[in-house]
Amino acid sequence: MDRNTDGGLTDALGRPLKDLRISVTDRCNFRCQYCMPLEKYAWIDRHEILTFEEITRLAGLFVGLGVEEIRLTGGEPLMRHNLEFLVGQISHVDGLKDLSLTTNASLLAEQARGLAKAGLKRINASLDTLDRGKFHRLTRKDGLDNVLSGLKQATLCGLSPIKLNSVIQRGVNDDDIIELVAFARKNGYPIRFIEYMDVGNSNNWVSDLMVPKGEILQAIRKLFPLDEGARNDESAPSVDYRFRDGAGNVGIIASVTEPFCRGCTRARLTADGKLVLCLFSDKGFDLKRLLRGGATDGELVAAIRSLWSARRDRYSEERLEAMNSGEYRPNSKKKIEMISLGG
Ligand code: SAM
Ligand code: SF4
Ligand code: SF4
Repeated sequence: MDRNTDGGLTDALGRPLKDLRISVTDRCNFRCQYCMPLEKYAWIDRHEILTFEEITRLAGLFVGLGVEEIRLTGGEPLMRHNLEFLVGQISHVDGLKDLSLTTNASLLAEQARGLAKAGLKRINASLDTLDRGKFHRLTRKDGLDNVLSGLKQATLCGLSPIKLNSVIQRGVNDDDIIELVAFARKNGYPIRFIEYMDVGNSNNWVSDLMVPKGEILQAIRKLFPLDEGARNDESAPSVDYRFRDGAGNVGIIASVTEPFCRGCTRARLTADGKLVLCLFSDKGFDLKRLLRGGATDGELVAAIRSLWSARRDRYSEERLEAMNSGEYRPNSKKKIEMISLGG
């Protein structure tokens, strides 16, 4: 197998391929306003969804090319039946250093034990408010209680760390920041706040709704003093700040105001087998066509190599340049929806 032991595979801007996000379904039981298109979205046909065997084969090839971390996502990954079988298969891929899952946590209460048994160590859970009514409005689902019991069950099953992700929107949940931080600290969950992004076209993103990192930090610091921030490694999107009282840390993912494209080592695989090289792409390369057309491992590896080598994406840096010069038009470019890409 073509193993990238010397760090040989880099893109056109010198970035290695180190992380892979695999979307296992585009279905979701929530309808978050900032993510889910309500109309005009063509759900992927069931026959087009990669099987667990196909995903595991591709995962092995990506690890051979240098991928160290795989994250399962969606849509809502726990909507995919028997996800723990896939976790079991991928966690045995030789050379993989880290396997994680991003979930809305609403189905975790039933599934955490099976996932942990299958080899999952940690999860990222999305939680944007602790207010029941607001949760309902944001996700269009009355699901807060299920999420909270899912988190509890995940803790009991030994999944650790359980990291919380919160997307902050102005006038929507910017007044929930302190309560979310207090909840995270109390439960020992590291929390990361994410600047609201213009992913896809259907959320009709406007920059006024995005709360920049500086404002989020200011809100937190009013109650919880923080030390200076640092990135854990250059390819990590989050800048982490330690609570001065020693109660863990809080991260900020400032994709809009402080883009980190130059350290971006991440590829994405959609549920129907498209390889996507940037969160803001308008299309992906159809690996499933090769897979189901009988391609050998060598042919698949060659295709991935050639795509990654030519990669020049730096959308968030370009967006910031355009925003600074007053020329940014969020919907002037067609982009794949978040629900297909998984974040
Ligand atoms: N359903 C799972 C969940 O919600 O965690 C996994 C998929 S979801 C697309 C992955 C992450 O993307 C979530 O943390 C969600 O909050 C984030 N997300 C979705 N739309 C976003 C947007 N417009 N800006 C920033 N983050 C977004
Ligand atoms: Fe579903 Fe996650 Fe998108 Fe919300 S953010 S609609 S939970 S996929
Ligand atoms: Fe990576 Fe594209 Fe995001 Fe830049 S905009 S960090 S290249 S996914």
